[in-house]
Amino acid sequence: MYDYLIVGAGFYGSICAHELTKAGKKVLVIDNRSHIGGNCYTENRDEINIHIYGPHIFHTSNEDVWNWINQFVKFNNYINTPVANYKGEIYSLPFNMWTFNKLWGVTTPEEAKKKIKEQSLILTGEPTNLEEQAISLVGLDVYEKLIKHYTAKQWRKDPEFLPKEIIKRLPVRFTYDNNYFNDRYQGIPIGGYTQIFEKLLEGIDVRLNCDYFKDTLPEFDKVIYTGSIDKFFDYKFGELEYKTTRFDHVKINTENYQGSAIMNYTDKDTEYTRTIEHKHFEKDNKTDSTWVTWEYPTEYNSQKTEPYYPVNDDENNKKYQKYKLASDDLKGIHFGGRLAEYKYYDMHQVIESALNFIKKEI
Ligand code: UDP
Repeated sequence: MYDYLIVGAGFYGSICAHELTKAGKKVLVIDNRSHIGGNCYTENRDEINIHIYGPHIFHTSNEDVWNWINQFVKFNNYINTPVANYKGEIYSLPFNMWTFNKLWGVTTPEEAKKKIKEQSLILTGEPTNLEEQAISLVGLDVYEKLIKHYTAKQWRKDPEFLPKEIIKRLPVRFTYDNNYFNDRYQGIPIGGYTQIFEKLLEGIDVRLNCDYFKDTLPEFDKVIYTGSIDKFFDYKFGELEYKTTRFDHVKINTENYQGSAIMNYTDKDTEYTRTIEHKHFEKDNKTDSTWVTWEYPTEYNSQKTEPYYPVNDDENNKKYQKYKLASDDLKGIHFGGRLAEYKYYDMHQVIESALNFIKKEI
């Protein structure tokens, strides 16, 4: 008999498991994958830690979250400075003075702002979708070269049908600063992410390859469910939309393949969105070979593919609200994390949310 059954061994589930066990509860964690760590899972191949489900760069301004995670792992000083490759032309990200200089030859913030203002005159009124939001922030040229096709490829939707909030994730700066994030703390766990989950789940019963909906489970008092919420309710209000990706990991016998951890391909014709060269997440990695991942956004199918990102447009958010109300009516089950709350959470936000839940629960 367990006090808690926790469905999902990603950050939300593993944090709950760890903190509840510390508080004296008996916990069973199950996951339908063959490993712990959810999408943060990393695998060491040829002395390189590979981010199996795409690049995960830890960043937060929340000191409590930073201190909490530093109990389990130390971080290196990696700062994310991805580059955009538009038909062989290289641009700095996020959008900043380096980007504007390369694109327009401008050198001062004033010139860059003037250019953006001119290029956003085509808009009338407040931005209502990603396309309008992007043009209003950085102008038409940046939109056409660095945003439009990348976004359409990544979400498999035209940017005019996507929520404007997505593009606000990226800073726009009028300084020469290529740091992709504004947060106070940033880095990659030295030795990869998986060890964090090993530590969180140490001494806790974990069953992998275990399906909550199909497998026979021992008795438990309460459930913490971190899977997709529409699946839990057998899609009774209709399917929620997710974005999903295929990751092709390839070993290449060269010491340095692309000179950057992340390269975004922002043109229309390149099928993949980005290539990740994992060794660059660890600056002191001097291996002879390298591992590179190609990311191909693929069509989501609830029966065949895994959900990665929620598509938070109005229609999906409305549908989610129905599931949320249904979940509020259930006793003894809590829904948390990116898939169960249908929120485009980053790691630090998941950690914060799980720790807040645990405070109330204990
Ligand atoms: N984006 C873009 N061009 C880029 C990088 C990002 O247009 O070179 C847009 C795209 O719409 C993407 C959004 O910015 O979905 C958020 O990017 P982020 O890097 O936060 O996406 P994630 O790392 O979560 O995949």
